[in-house]
Amino acid sequence: MTFSQLENLSEQQWHQISIEDVAKYLKTDLNAGLPAADVSQRQEAYGFNELKGKKGKSAIARFLMEFNQPLIYILLFAGVITLLLKDWVDAGVILGVTVINAVIGFIQESKAEDAIAALAKSVSTEATVIRDGQKVQINSRELVIGDLVLLSSGDKVPADLRLVTLRDLQVSEAALTGESVPVQKNIKPLAPETVLADRLNMVYATGLVTFGQAKGIVVAIANATETGRISQLIEQSTNLETPLTRKIKQFSKKLLYVILGLSAFAFVVVIGKGGTWTEGFKGAVALAVSAIPEGLPAVVTVTLAIGVGQIANRHAIIRKLPAVETLGSTTVICSDKTGTLTENQMTVQGIYAGEVSYVVTGVGYQAEGVILENDQPVEVSQISAQIPALQDCLQCGLLCNDSHLQEQDGQLTVVGDPTEAALIVSANKAGLTLPDLEQTQPRLDTIPFESQFQYMATLHQHREIANFHTIYVKGSAEAILKRASYQVDRHGEHIDLKRSQIEQVVDQMASQGLRVLAFAKKEIAEQIQGINHDDIDNDLGFLGLQGMIDPPRTEAIAAVRACQSAGIQVKMITGDHALTAAAIAKQMGLSQDQQALVFTGKQLGEMDEQALANAVEASNVFARVAPEQKLRLVEALQAKGEIVAMTGDGVNDAPALKQADIGIAMGITGTEVAKEAADMVLTDDNFASIEAAIEEGRTVYSNLIKTIGFILPVNGGEALTILGGILAAANLPILPVQILWVNMVSSVALSATLAFEPKVKGIMKRSPIRPDQPLLTGQLLWRILIISIFNLIAVFGMFEWIWQTTENINLARTMAVQTLVASESFYLLSISQAVPSLLTYLKDRTSPVTYIPAIGIVCVFILQIFFSQIAFINPLFDTQALSFIQALICIGVGASVVVPALLLNRVAPLR
Ligand code: ADP
Ligand code: MG
Repeated sequence: MTFSQLENLSEQQWHQISIEDVAKYLKTDLNAGLPAADVSQRQEAYGFNELKGKKGKSAIARFLMEFNQPLIYILLFAGVITLLLKDWVDAGVILGVTVINAVIGFIQESKAEDAIAALAKSVSTEATVIRDGQKVQINSRELVIGDLVLLSSGDKVPADLRLVTLRDLQVSEAALTGESVPVQKNIKPLAPETVLADRLNMVYATGLVTFGQAKGIVVAIANATETGRISQLIEQSTNLETPLTRKIKQFSKKLLYVILGLSAFAFVVVIGKGGTWTEGFKGAVALAVSAIPEGLPAVVTVTLAIGVGQIANRHAIIRKLPAVETLGSTTVICSDKTGTLTENQMTVQGIYAGEVSYVVTGVGYQAEGVILENDQPVEVSQISAQIPALQDCLQCGLLCNDSHLQEQDGQLTVVGDPTEAALIVSANKAGLTLPDLEQTQPRLDTIPFESQFQYMATLHQHREIANFHTIYVKGSAEAILKRASYQVDRHGEHIDLKRSQIEQVVDQMASQGLRVLAFAKKEIAEQIQGINHDDIDNDLGFLGLQGMIDPPRTEAIAAVRACQSAGIQVKMITGDHALTAAAIAKQMGLSQDQQALVFTGKQLGEMDEQALANAVEASNVFARVAPEQKLRLVEALQAKGEIVAMTGDGVNDAPALKQADIGIAMGITGTEVAKEAADMVLTDDNFASIEAAIEEGRTVYSNLIKTIGFILPVNGGEALTILGGILAAANLPILPVQILWVNMVSSVALSATLAFEPKVKGIMKRSPIRPDQPLLTGQLLWRILIISIFNLIAVFGMFEWIWQTTENINLARTMAVQTLVASESFYLLSISQAVPSLLTYLKDRTSPVTYIPAIGIVCVFILQIFFSQIAFINPLFDTQALSFIQALICIGVGASVVVPALLLNRVAPLR
C-alpha cells in the first residue's frame, strides 16, 4: 500500500491491524521513527497538528445576549414608551444607546475572550518523538502522521496514536468518552467492531496520561483526530464571568427595583402636581435613564482583560478569568520548594560512600572541580583502582539517570531534571563518563522517578559477564534504606547495614540545606529483560549518599517578604527531607522562629482533621509530603476560611490544583495534566511571579473599585437632579438625551482610563481583599452618596441659577451638563494617580507619570465642545453655545468637587 492509498484506509481501522502493518502503511520505522525529509514532506501535505475549534455561540446570538441585562430592559421599555409618545428624537437616542451599548459590549467581550484564549494557547504542548533514531522534544503542532511519539505520565496525548509498546499505561479519556476513571491500555489488535472507548491499543488526542509510559505511532492529527471530529467538544468559549461581574449583576437587579420605584414615584409626583400623562412618562423615563450606569459592564470587562495582559507580562498566564480577582483575595500560598523557591541549579557538595565522607568542589554544571578526602584531592586513577565504593556510588548516579547536559550558546543547560544533572557532573569530576559506561553496561529497562515512590531504578546488562545484571536505584534516603539489607565498605566488600550511622550523615547533610540522594544496587545472576517495583523491594546494597545544594532564588526571598507584609502566608510544601526543607525555609525567612516547626507527610497522615487544622496553622514547612496529601492540606486551610493558592507540577498534583482557589502550574517543569487543572501557569516557574501576579490582581481589583466609585456618583447626581426638578415642579434640569450623552460618551471615556492605572504604592502593604466583601462597602456607599449630593447641588444649582436669571432653558441645561462633566473630570483627577505621580516626578525625574487620565480628559473636553459649540449639533441635544465666561463658570463650579473628593480620600479612600 502506498502513502496515498492510505487515505482510503478508513480512519477507524487502526485498532484492528498489527503494529507492523501500521508501521508499514505509515512508512515509519518502529525504532528510528521518521526520517527528517519525510517529516517536512508530510507537514507540507497535511499541515500542522492544530485543532481548529468552532466558536461556541454564533455571533448573532452573542450580540443579542448583550440585551439580556435588567438595566437594558428598562432602557428598552423607556424607549418604547417614548416611541408611543411620538417623541422620535428621544426614542431614537434611547434605543440607539441600547444598540451602541450592545455593540460595545460585544466587541469588548469578543476581544477579551480572544486575548484570553490566545494566552491559554501560548502555553504550548510539547511532545517527545523519535525521528532519525533520535529522541527530540518538539511543539506538538509539528507532529505528522507516522511520527513515533513517547508518552509518559503527566503528558497530554498530542494526536491519535496506535500504541506500539507500553508499561502500565493509564490514560484518562474523560474529554472524549466522558469516562472519568483512567483506562488501562494494552497493545493487542482488536476486533473491527470495538467501540472507541474500548480501543485499548489506541490513545486519542486530549487524553491525559495518568500513569506509566508508552510509545505510539501518530495515525491522525489536527481535525482528523477523534476529538477534532466531534466538533462540539472543542468549542472554545471562554467564560468571562467572575465573582465581581456576578456581584455587579446582582447589584443591577437590585438597582432595577430602585429605579422602577423611583420612576413610579416621579410619575405620581408629576401627575399629582397636575401634569399630563405624557409629562409623567417623560419624567419617569428621564429618571430611569439617568440612574442606569450604562457604561459599567463594558468597563469592567475591559479592566479585567487588561489585568490579564499585565499579569502575562509578569510571567503568569491566567487560564480562567475569575483567577484575576481571586489573586487579590489570596491569603495563603502553598509553594513547592525545588525550582520555585530555589534556583533548581544543583551542585553536589558532599558524598558519603564506603563509610567515608568526601567534599566536592566547584559550582554549576562545569566539570571543573575535584573530590577531596580530608582536604586532599583524590586522583581520578586512584578512584577506580582503590576506592570502588566511591566509584560505584558515582556510577549509580550516572547510569540511573534520564537527564543530560547540553551546550547552548556556550552555556551548559539541563535537558531533564537538575537533580540528575548534578549527579552527572559529580561523576564527571571523578573521570566517569556515560558513553564509556554505556558500552560496558547497556541499560535494558527503567522505572522512572515519581514523587510518590521517591526513587528511580534502571536495569543494566554486563557485557563482560554473561547472564549478570545490575539494578541501580537512586532516591530519597528513606526510600533506599527501607529496601537495603547490606552496604559496601570502602573496598567494595559487603558489610552489615549501619542504618543509624547513615541516618546521622543524612541529617547532617540535610540540616545544611543539602538535597540528599541515596544510591543502591542489586546484582542479579540470571537472564532478565525488565524490572518492576517488586524487584527492588528488598535486598538492596547501599552504596552511598550525595548531597547537593540548591540555593534559594534571591528574588523569591524578596517576594516571600513582600507576601508576608501583604498579609499572605507562604507555606512550603515539598517532597524533600524535613531538615533540608527547614534549612531552606530559614534561609528564605519562611519561619519567624529560629527553629522551624516542620511537619512531615507521615505525621500529617496520622493526624485527624482537628490536629491537621492546627498543624496547617502552626507551621509553614511541610516536608516529605506526597502529592496526594496536598489535597488534604488545601482542604484544611480552606476550612479555616483561607483563600489558597497552591503550586504543582505532577500528575498527582492535579486534584489539589483543582481544589485550591488558585491552582498554579509550572510552565517549564509542569506536566500537561497539571497545566490543564490549573487556573494560572507560571512561564518561569518562579515564586516571584506568583507574588507579581497577586500584586497585579490587587491592582485590577482596586481599579475596578475606582471605576465603580467613579461612575455611580455620576448616575446618582443625575438621578437626584432629575428628582429635584420633578419635585420642584419645574422643567427637567437635564434632558434624557443629554443624560445618555454623558453616560455613554463622557463617563465611559473618562472611566476607561482607570483600567490603565498603574499599581498604587503600598498595595502589597494592605491585607487581602475579603472575597465576601460586598460590592458596595459602607465606605464606598458614603462616597457615592456624598459625591452624588455634590453633583446635585452643583448641577441643579447651576440650572436653577441660569434659568432664573436668563429664562433661557437650553442655556441653563447646557451649563448644567457642562458643569456635571467638569465635575466628573476633576473627580477623576482626584481618584487617579495622575496628580500624585506628577508630583513625584517633579521631585524625581525618573519616576513614571500616569498620563492616561489626562488623555481621557482632553478627549472629553473636545467632545463637550462638539456637544455645545457646534451649530448643527445643538438641535440634536437641545444645547446652546456657551460664551468663554460661561464655560469658565461651569469648569470652576465643577472643579470645586475636589473639596469633598479630597476629604473623602482622607477618610474613605477608594481601594
Ligand atoms: P521536591 O520537588 O518537593 O523537592 P520531589 O518529590 O521531587 O520533591 O523529591 C523528593 C525526594 O525524592 C528528594 O528529596 C530526593 O531524595 C528524591 N528525588 C528527587 N528527584 C529524584 C530523581 N530524579 N531520582 C531519584 N530520586 C529523586
Ligand atoms: Mg521535584
